[in-house]
Amino acid sequence: MIASLLIANRGEIACRIIRTAREMGIRTVAVYSDADAKALHVREADEVVHIGPSPARESYLVGAKIIAAAKATGAEAIHPGYGFLSENAEFAQAVMDAGLVWVGPKPSSITAMGLKDAAKALMADAGVPVTPGYMGANQDPAFLAEQAAEIGYPVLIKAVAGGGGKGMRKVDGAADFADALASCQREAAASFGNAHVLIEKYILTPRHIEVQVFGDTHGNIVHLFERDCSLQRRHQKVIEEAPAPGMDDATRQQLCAAAVRAAKAVDYVGAGTIEFIADASDGLRADRIWFMEMNTRLQVEHPVTEEITGVDLVEWQLRVASGEPLPLTQDDLTIEGWAMEARLYAEDPAKGFLPSTGPLELFQLPDHIGRVDTGVHEGAEVSPFYDPMIAKLIAHGEDREAARETLSEMLEDSAVWPVRTNAAFLIRALDHPDFVAGAVDTGLIGRDGEAMAAAPEPSAAALTNAAMAMVPRSLQAGFRLNAPGVRSAPFLLDGKRVDVALHGPGTDEPAPAMLVAEAGAVWQLTPWRVEGGAGGAASDGAILSPMPGKIIAVAVAAGEPVAKGQKLLTLEAMKMEHSLIAPFDGVVAELNATPGAQVQVEALLARIEAAG
Ligand code: ADP
Ligand code: ADP
Ligand code: MG
Repeated sequence: MIASLLIANRGEIACRIIRTAREMGIRTVAVYSDADAKALHVREADEVVHIGPSPARESYLVGAKIIAAAKATGAEAIHPGYGFLSENAEFAQAVMDAGLVWVGPKPSSITAMGLKDAAKALMADAGVPVTPGYMGANQDPAFLAEQAAEIGYPVLIKAVAGGGGKGMRKVDGAADFADALASCQREAAASFGNAHVLIEKYILTPRHIEVQVFGDTHGNIVHLFERDCSLQRRHQKVIEEAPAPGMDDATRQQLCAAAVRAAKAVDYVGAGTIEFIADASDGLRADRIWFMEMNTRLQVEHPVTEEITGVDLVEWQLRVASGEPLPLTQDDLTIEGWAMEARLYAEDPAKGFLPSTGPLELFQLPDHIGRVDTGVHEGAEVSPFYDPMIAKLIAHGEDREAARETLSEMLEDSAVWPVRTNAAFLIRALDHPDFVAGAVDTGLIGRDGEAMAAAPEPSAAALTNAAMAMVPRSLQAGFRLNAPGVRSAPFLLDGKRVDVALHGPGTDEPAPAMLVAEAGAVWQLTPWRVEGGAGGAASDGAILSPMPGKIIAVAVAAGEPVAKGQKLLTLEAMKMEHSLIAPFDGVVAELNATPGAQVQVEALLARIEAAG
């Protein structure tokens, strides 16, 4: 068994690998860029090596620096994780040439599966059904258009070197083909340095079903059943599960046998995934499931397989890389229950899924239910340099519904701020009737995603609870005494005015601000502040008391001209002073404020009449 391991990655997958290595008594070495100096994987490793500036192409993608780091720390082996250099055959070869152990398949297997066209040709030869289409060398646009017509629209143009859901264009008819081809080729050249494309029949009612395979250096290859990754946004996985809903044993056996054949065809060693596309218009049928591509690495969603099989796939990777045979045979492997994973992203669904970066002032994920794989911690910073996935939440249950409910509960219990996450979006996706029914195709989010992405709003009860923590006991008592029936006060919720119903006794130590955390979303609630633009003044010039309080200064007199922004009076409330300002140029037409007076919320303190 190897005694030390360098992890050539970052984030949750680096932490995931460190966890198993530690359990196996293997010394771990982390590498990190400038942006990751304080990252969780750096904290958790036994030794760390700085490998350069923040951009990945100057650090995590520089093979020579990583090999040098392994040499310098005496690490015996290198685990590439996923992404970055994991499917780079040259890097795998360089690692071995440096006398190190590569935790992954042979470079020749990576190469054979590296380009989608060559991989499909190889698979067709091995008797694995492949997605119908054109995968030849001729890239002449007119010829490709003919091929598309022959395949029959809709078709999917795919960059042969593509990955991560990029470099794909669905084309619905001949009229759009030329433009789609040109733009796909441009994106492919820019993203992958290879403009070559293939054309596939676009499968209708598509479901993404993939099979986990594992090989060792003794010629054994097993499968660890399938995963369903059909809930996707723009060809990228959002929620994954295992097993696949609606998969019967006979279909599973045929599919998994095809996956093992595929792995054998490339003499596969280590963890790999064979991705298939299924036409699910008539349920899952073996004759309507086709090979799409192979990912020659550990997959992001590997935990759902671990949860249903009880196998630690990273442990298997390290054993196989050390020359051991697979710990279990095919007959030893069974499916226990159901598992579901959600990818938690630092992004704002309500703003077009824009990545959200910045400090994680609040980062709380459930620790009492389910499994959480994360690469960040409270106080860390989400940088703009890398993938915005900050955690994976994984639930395991007796059946699909149990796993779904637990995952939903886990997401509800997540609280991250001020960085935005897709937690509320994920909860809504889990609740979608088609998802609940296990009838998900890859187009679900495209069709119904808008409602899932809408900005969540806190409940009145959650707002009241938070608001009460900001209301001093004394003030609240007086307020209730003097104004029976008036039970709401204005606050700022993420900068926008909300009126919150108040009840109960208030608190001895009022908080200056509160976080309202509910259903995976977090908002900041602060007392209504008049300074800084938000203003307590209605457009008609009425200056209302934003909260119950005491007037401590009046800066103007009735009839006096005032300029926009000029301070009118100062109110003390919730242990803070608040200035009320003129909303526009005008004169003080009415003034009902005297220093020392107690005022109620929404009391009319002054009225400004616009000048001219
Ligand atoms: P999966 O999510 O099924 O494991 P993906 O193809 O989505 O597989 O890729 C997993 C990781 O690898 C992601 O971090 C993704 O961004 C990255 N990745 C995959 N292929 C590429 C590529 N060609 N270029 C850049 N990143 C890639
Ligand atoms: P990548 O390397 O980017 O992961 P894939 O070939 O695995 O590319 O395809 C990514 C996703 O695109 C699939 O999971 C599926 O949702 C969709 N897709 C791919 N091929 C087809 C097809 N022929 N018909 C319909 N959808 C497809
Ligand atoms: Mg894929």
